[in-house]
Amino acid sequence: MNKITIAIDGFSSTGKSTVAKSLAKHLGYVYVDSGAMYRAVTLYAMQNGLIDELSFKKDKLAAKLPQIEISFKFNDALGFAEVYLNGVNVEHEIRTLEVSGFVSTIAAVYEVRKRLVAQQQQMGKDKGVVMDGRDIGTVVFTDAELKLFMTATAEKRAVRRYEELVERGDDVTYEDVLKNVQDRDYIDSTRKDSPLVKADDAIEIDNSSLTLVEQFEKILDLANKKIKTYSS
Ligand code: C5P
Repeated sequence: MNKITIAIDGFSSTGKSTVAKSLAKHLGYVYVDSGAMYRAVTLYAMQNGLIDELSFKKDKLAAKLPQIEISFKFNDALGFAEVYLNGVNVEHEIRTLEVSGFVSTIAAVYEVRKRLVAQQQQMGKDKGVVMDGRDIGTVVFTDAELKLFMTATAEKRAVRRYEELVERGDDVTYEDVLKNVQDRDYIDSTRKDSPLVKADDAIEIDNSSLTLVEQFEKILDLANKKIKTYSS
């Protein structure tokens, strides 16, 4: 069977990573969470005084990019690859609401996108990859054999993200999480460079009322059909 490229894009907290992880595991493909890479650059910017509520030193961040090394290491116990920033595991730290509050500003920077997109293309060059993000089907892998675009109402997404954060022990309110989801939707879809849009050839999946199992089965079926087509 030939391996294909699967691109999963969509708004924040639409459950892209959950389904992408299960799909990659099931197919024996590599899963790449491109959002984690933008989050890791954001954490670097926060740790180095390049962004806070009052200022953003965009040019300084652009100049520092060659010193920001992002890598993934598979964690057998968790069953997915965790993200490392300059050799340090930051998988937990990049998921805070604080990082979420700055990440869309960082992700709108041309130099940041150029560098991360090149790395993502390198990671998927041999196919057999499931990558999720905002521009995977429109910029990173325009020739992906299967492109999905996930949507759900902002309220549904905020509830999911809120529950995730509370489960981690983070002290957040539902209202703050909803506002962050809405703010990121706005910045991600209106930015100049690679805005979040559905690729013309992407299949839209509204999972507002699908269970995780229903969603997984639907997507696995689409993937298997594509794999069959490209293998015959
Ligand atoms: O997927 P996740 O919600 O972790 O992504 C965090 C942020 O990173 C998004 O809100 C978006 O601003 C940015 N992002 C992006 N392009 C991608 C993946 C994520 O701009 N391919």
